[in-house]
Order: sequence, then structure tokens, then C-alpha cells
Amino acid sequence: MRQIAIYGKGGIGKSTTTQNLAAALAERGKKLMLIGCDPKADSTRLILGGLAKATVLDTMREKEEEDITIEDLMSVGFGGIRAVESGGPEPGVGCAGRGIVTAINMLENLGAYEEELDYVFYDVLGDVVCGGFAMPIREGKAQEIYIVCSGEMMSLYAANNICKGIRRYAASGKTKLGGLICNSRLVDNERALVQEFAAKLNTQLIYFLPRNNIVQRAECKRMTVIEYDPECGQACEYRALAEKIETNTTYSIPTPLQPEELEVLLEKYMNYEN
Ligand code: ATP
Ligand code: MG
Repeated sequence: MRQIAIYGKGGIGKSTTTQNLAAALAERGKKLMLIGCDPKADSTRLILGGLAKATVLDTMREKEEEDITIEDLMSVGFGGIRAVESGGPEPGVGCAGRGIVTAINMLENLGAYEEELDYVFYDVLGDVVCGGFAMPIREGKAQEIYIVCSGEMMSLYAANNICKGIRRYAASGKTKLGGLICNSRLVDNERALVQEFAAKLNTQLIYFLPRNNIVQRAECKRMTVIEYDPECGQACEYRALAEKIETNTTYSIPTPLQPEELEVLLEKYMNYEN
């Protein structure tokens, strides 16, 4: 069983990419569990065809712990993918990361990990690998991490910060970075920029996903692109990403850049003549 955590700047496309990747892996006959670690609880919406009926924390507020069953926490969606949302407190109240810790412990106690799973994906909120959001890697649950980014400065900045967090935890555990997934924002020279950024981080650009509005059309219908239009080009892109993840053998402890280094890199590609 491979346990994979997906990090990246807010709004960069973590949930969309994770669900499309999961759908593509399910098409290949893989058994998956997808765990949303975000109080917004929208990490499994495209797999379930709507928001999850309850989060783990909601359920724990409503029921006595000993009465909770695995069916209360987990729903099954597209391609037989099992979907769980950890949930969290209302914004501004308490540490949202705690929900993740509670959810994972509860799932373990109920035997969710004992099924014959090929993959568990954690869709983790946040730019910073801190507190509860570090849970999947801190506790050695996820051995692999991928960072979703684009060529935009703030997204690279966030990716670099996430690498600092990974480095802190990777040193003591088994967790390694498997690569960057560039989810294109149509920045000039974006592929070359992210490729060089990845090399400087001692990792790889594992896949470059084009931007395509079919992603939003599918989202409106509460579907992954794989389900909405399996023949389209973007569906093939997600399948190609799945193939790369399936066959990846390159893992590393990242080497974050100094802020000045990152700026020099950005400037280099900004001024680059096509
Ligand atoms: P958050 O940090 O808030 O959880 P996120 O990183 O999970 O955000 P998503 O919710 O997956 O981001 O995506 C943000 C928006 O970008 C969505 O509306 C989604 O449809 C769109 N999007 C993601 N990837 C693509 C793409 N390749 N092409 C076009 N639109 C995309
Ligand atoms: Mg998300």
C-alpha cells in the first residue's frame, strides 16, 4: 500500500488533481482511499458526486465513539474509491489540524487501512507543513509526497516552504518527496521554470498538467474529467500523470532554496526570449 500526501498552495488545484489522479488509477483497477484533510471538506466532492454527507469530526460530535462504524465515516464513489473527509472546527476556532489526527486514528481503529488498498491519498490543506497538517508525514503515514504548483511566484514560494517542512520531518522518518506536479497557470516558460526549480530542490517535475476549462465544466457537474468526458485530452493528461506516479522510482529529501535564489530563478525565466 502506497500512502501519498498532496501538498501545495491554497487554490492551486490539489483537490481537483488528486481526485482526477485517483479516478485514473481506479480505471487501472487500483483500490484507493482518499482522505480529505481540509475543514472545507471538498476534497472528495468530484468522486462522490457531491459533498460528503458528514465529516469524521461531525460524526464524532453527533455519536458516541463506540457507536461509530466505518460506514459513518467513509463513502464509496466513482471507481469504488473510498472517500473520507476529516472535517475541522469552524474557521477561527481551534486548530484545524487536530481533525486530521483524530480522523486518521479513528480510521485506523476501525480497520480502514487493513483492507487491500493499493493507494491512500491525503489531500492536505495549507501552504505550511505545520501541526496537524504535518500528521500524514509526521506520523510516517504517508511515505510519499507530491507538491502541486505552477510557475506563479507565490505558488513556487509556497512549494519551497513546504519543502522546508518536509525536510524537517523527512530527516527522522521514511517520508520522501516524489516530485512536483505543475498545474499550469499559463505562465511564460512555465515548464522550463518549474523544471529548473525542481532540479534546484533536488527533485523532479513529474508531470506538467495543462490548464483546460473542461476541468471547471466537469466540476460544475460534480465529476472528475475522467468521468465527465473520458475521451477528452485532459482525461488523457490525468491518465499520463497516473502512469508517472505508478512507475515513479525517484524520491528525495528536498533542498529548499534561499529566497534570493528563488527570485533570481523567476527573473531568469521572466526575461527569457521565446
Ligand atoms: P484549496 O487549497 O482551497 O483546497 P485546491 O488546491 O484544492 O484549493 P482546487 O479546489 O482543486 O484547489 O482547484 C481550484 C480551482 O482550479 C477549481 O475551480 C478547479 O476547477 C480549477 N482547476 C484546477 N486544475 C485546473 C486545470 N488544470 N485547468 C483548469 N482549471 C483547473
Ligand atoms: Mg482543496
